[in-house]
Amino acid sequence: MGVRVDSALAKDILDVVGIGFGPSNLALAIALTEHNQQGGALTARFLERKLEFGWHQGMLLEGATMQVSFLKDLATLRNPVSQFSFLSYLHTRNRLADFVNHKSFFPSRVEFHDYFRWCADQLSPLVDYGTEAVTARPVYEAGMVTHYEVTARCVVTGRITALLARNVVVAPGLSPELPAGITAGERIWHSSEFLDRVGGITDPRRLMVVGAGQSAAEIVDHLHRAFPSAEVYAVFARFGYSQADDSPFANRIFDPAAIDDFHAATEETKSALLAYHANTNYAVVDVDLIKDLYARTYEEKVRGVSRLRLLNMSRLKSARASGDGVEVTIRHENTARESLVEVDALVCATGYRETDPTTLLGEVEPLLWRDEQDRLRVERDYRVATGPEVLAGVYLCGGTEHSHGITSSLLSTSAVRAGDIVQSIVTRVETHAAPLRANAGTS
Ligand SMILES: Cc1cc2nc3c(=O)[nH]c(=O)nc-3n(C[C@H](O)[C@H](O)[C@H](O)COP(=O)(O)OP(=O)(O)OC[C@H]3O[C@@H](n4cnc5c(N)ncnc54)[C@H](O)[C@@H]3O)c2cc1C
Repeated sequence: MGVRVDSALAKDILDVVGIGFGPSNLALAIALTEHNQQGGALTARFLERKLEFGWHQGMLLEGATMQVSFLKDLATLRNPVSQFSFLSYLHTRNRLADFVNHKSFFPSRVEFHDYFRWCADQLSPLVDYGTEAVTARPVYEAGMVTHYEVTARCVVTGRITALLARNVVVAPGLSPELPAGITAGERIWHSSEFLDRVGGITDPRRLMVVGAGQSAAEIVDHLHRAFPSAEVYAVFARFGYSQADDSPFANRIFDPAAIDDFHAATEETKSALLAYHANTNYAVVDVDLIKDLYARTYEEKVRGVSRLRLLNMSRLKSARASGDGVEVTIRHENTARESLVEVDALVCATGYRETDPTTLLGEVEPLLWRDEQDRLRVERDYRVATGPEVLAGVYLCGGTEHSHGITSSLLSTSAVRAGDIVQSIVTRVETHAAPLRANAGTS
C-alpha cells in the first residue's frame, strides 16, 4: 500500500471517485476490492445516476447474445481466479455444469446482465445510486493540485453533495444519437429505450427501424416475430446488412496487448487501424442473424406475403408525429426520389456517440492537456496528461478511441484496464507523497 498524503483533510479524501457505475467502473470496483484483499487500502466511492444497477436494459431482447466471450467478463483476463468471474457467478447460481453443456462462449445478454448485477450487488456499499456527478474543481495544497472536489446531485431530491478525491475515474458510457433533425417522442424512439416503449404498442399495422447495425437488425427481428400481422420496414443506406468480422486474427484487435500497439502508433497508423477494423464493431451484424432475416424474406417471397421490407440505399429524411403514428419521409439514394410512409412507431437504431468527459469536470478541464487535434491527451495508463503541479489524476474509461483504439467503449479490455488504472494510482500515490512531504517540511 502506498504512503498517504498527510493533511488535515486527508482522512476525508478518497483515493478514487468513479463517475458512472456501468461495467467499466464496476470492473474498477472489483480490481480495487481485490487490491485491498491483497493488503492494499485504497478508498473509493462510485456515483451512478440510475436508481439501481442496469446495463442497456432497453435492449435486453429475448434471444440476444453477447458479442464477447464470457471469458472477457469483469475480472478473468486480469485475474483468472477472481471471485467475481462469470464462472464464479455460474457456480453460485448452480448453473456451471449446465453452462458447460450449452457449449457456447456467448451467453445471452439477459444472463450477462444478471452476472453484472450479481457483481454490483456485492459492491453496493461503494456506490451512491440515484446520484449524478455534475461538476468538479481542483483543490490546491502548497501550490499543487492534490485532489479534486466532485459535486453530485441526488436525482430524487436534488440535494447537492461534494466528495473529495485524489483521482476521478470518468466512465459515463455512450450517449444515444438520433439522426439530424429527428426528435424522440411517444412514437419515435432511440433503440436504447426500445423495450421500455414497445410494450405500449398494440396491434400495429406498420413499424419502421432505421439503421444497419446489430441493434437495428435485432429490433427488426424482434418486431417481425412479436407482431405477426405487422409490416416491418428496415431502412438503411447500405446495400445490405454487412457481417461483423469476428475471425480470430481480426479479433486480436480486442486483446489487451493490442492497446500497447495502438497507443504507441503514429496518428496515421491509428486512423488506418480504426478504418481497417471498423467492421469488427460498427454498422455490422452477426452473420447468423443476417442469415435468419434473409431466410425470412425468402420464405415470404415463396408465400407471396411481404411483411419484412428492406429499404436499402435509403435514408430517413424526416419524421413527424401524426395522430397515433408517425409520417416518415424516406429518400431513396439510388433514384433521388422520396416516399412518405405512415408507421405506428419509428425506431432509430442509429448508434451512440462518446460522452465528452469534460462536461462533468468543470474547472478541472483547463488542467487537462490536449493534442494537436484538440482531443484529450490520454496516457497509456488511461490518465489524462497534466502539468507536474497536478498530482491528482483524471482517468478515462471510455472516450479513448483516439488514443487506445476500438475497445474503448467495449467490454473486451475492461478487466485489464481496471487493473492498469489501479496499478497507476498505487504507483502515483507512492511517488507523489514525497514532494508533498518535502513541501510541508519547508513551509
Ligand atoms: C445493446 C448493446 C449491447 C452491447 N453489447 C456489447 C457486447 O456484447 N460486448 C461488448 O464488448 N460491448 C457491448 N456493448 C458496448 C457497451 O458500451 C459496453 O457493453 C458497456 O456498456 C460499457 O460500459 P461503461 O460502463 O463504459 O458504460 P455504460 O454501460 O453506458 O455505463 C455508464 C454508466 O454511467 C452512468 N452515468 C453517466 N453519466 C453519469 C453521471 N454524470 N453521473 C453518474 N452516473 C453517470 C450511466 O447511468 C451508466 O450506468 C453493447 C452496447 C449496447 C448498447
